Amino acid sequence: MPNQRIVVAYGDGIGPEITDAVMRVLRANDTPLEYELVEIGERAYLKGFATGIPPDAWEIIRANRVMLKGPITTPQGGGYRSVNVTLRKALGLFANVRQCRAFTPYIASLHPKMNVVILRENEEDLYAGIEYRQSQEVVLDLKVVTRPGTESIIRYAFEYARAYGRKKVTCMTKDNIMKMSDGMFHRVFDEIAKEYPELKTDHLIIDIGAARLAAQPERLDVIVTLNLYGDILSDIAAQVAGSIGLAGSANVGQDAAMFEAVHGSAPDIAGKDIANPSGLLTAAIQLLVHVGLYQDAERIKNAWLVTLEDGVHTPDIYREDFSTRRVGTRAFADAIIKRLGRVPEELDSLTYRAGGIHLTPHPLPPQEQKLVGVDVFVVWDQADRDPNVLGNAIAQIDSAPLEFKLMTNRGVQVFPNVIVETVRVDMWRCRYLGNDITFEDILALLEKITRAGIHINKIENLYTFDGEHGYSMGQDE
Ligand code: NAD
Repeated sequence: MPNQRIVVAYGDGIGPEITDAVMRVLRANDTPLEYELVEIGERAYLKGFATGIPPDAWEIIRANRVMLKGPITTPQGGGYRSVNVTLRKALGLFANVRQCRAFTPYIASLHPKMNVVILRENEEDLYAGIEYRQSQEVVLDLKVVTRPGTESIIRYAFEYARAYGRKKVTCMTKDNIMKMSDGMFHRVFDEIAKEYPELKTDHLIIDIGAARLAAQPERLDVIVTLNLYGDILSDIAAQVAGSIGLAGSANVGQDAAMFEAVHGSAPDIAGKDIANPSGLLTAAIQLLVHVGLYQDAERIKNAWLVTLEDGVHTPDIYREDFSTRRVGTRAFADAIIKRLGRVPEELDSLTYRAGGIHLTPHPLPPQEQKLVGVDVFVVWDQADRDPNVLGNAIAQIDSAPLEFKLMTNRGVQVFPNVIVETVRVDMWRCRYLGNDITFEDILALLEKITRAGIHINKIENLYTFDGEHGYSMGQDE
């Protein structure tokens, strides 16, 4: 089989030094890879490429689709777009993987046994960036959660756990509140878990999960979650582990992946041969597992851990009580190369499994989607916002074949009965339901409401799917 070809970008600041160190380790290990270099980042920005990626680099990235990337300096000032965001969007990198583990006693950590991986959905959720101002007082953001997006990240989490010899996958959501979006995420997790019987699984509500990550991270192993929760959890985990400088991160898609260090280009120490290449090396090890070169990943990982154990440390992790030699970037790489073939004694190493990571989507058969109603959102700011005034005006409109059921304000029912006294804003939701209705019936209703002088600013069609409600219910329904 021909060697796997990967793209390597040396990056900016300390990028060239640490990438060179990692490449020397990969080559000394005789890793069966071919390397294609691209120049992206600061120099490309300054040549006028707003994304930091010139067209020839794009061609190479698209052709090879697996990339090891040194850190990139984003120049100050407007007009520049982040290389990472561009790569993520253009290559459909739906998963972000952040490893957070302690390396006690070499690096101080509050939780010496912590070894957590957070897999965060990378493209959806509130990060879809779909926001609207609806009225004087109301702004809405769309939380987009899709079945294919959810399935991809969850399947990836299980494949990851299997490939890396992990034991447990924990799903974190807020499905006690967001029963439809987070509820689907949890449900898909439970479905896919059945395909991986060797792995333990559990689910935690995100607030409890975040508290556990901060207080008892050693009880967690692999965490899979939605975009926003994952963003917050990764920072908590990095802080608690205390070893962010040694962490690698991966952005992974169906058929493309990009691996990098968590840290940036550290311009303050660039060119001094003192940067620690461990973050990028950890990323390179993830890359090797990803492409199925698990034995090479293990050999390099073990040699690196032995180097840490032997006390050969770069200045950022050098400690009088544990270190034996203070070395620069090049000498640190030399020390790893010298230890290839050895296994650590104290720092536990994971055993990687053969086969790499494979994502095969399993689309569901389509369900019967039936129109059963509409939520009509209106802007109204009269009569001290007395819901009975608006509710009665709406109730008088002939809505047949739809039936006006109830009205809510900020999700709380205010008509026909006020469930709770609540602050009322200037946007109201009116729910209509009906049997055997068509979209023409909805259009006719909208016309009547408009003729009654009521300002409609948004509608949501209500559907059932194989008879199950595709919308959340009001308190009285
Ligand atoms: P940084 O991570 O580059 O540096 C923060 C501190 O950590 C500095 O004191 C630095 O010297 C130190 N440090 C970082 N990596 C180190 C290493 N390998 N060894 C020893 N010390 C190390 O963060 P910053 O200063 O906020 O950002 C600098 C530049 O990096 C900015 O242009 C930023 O946009 C960019 N950046 C890029 C990425 C990326 O490419 N993924 C990520 C974060 C920041």
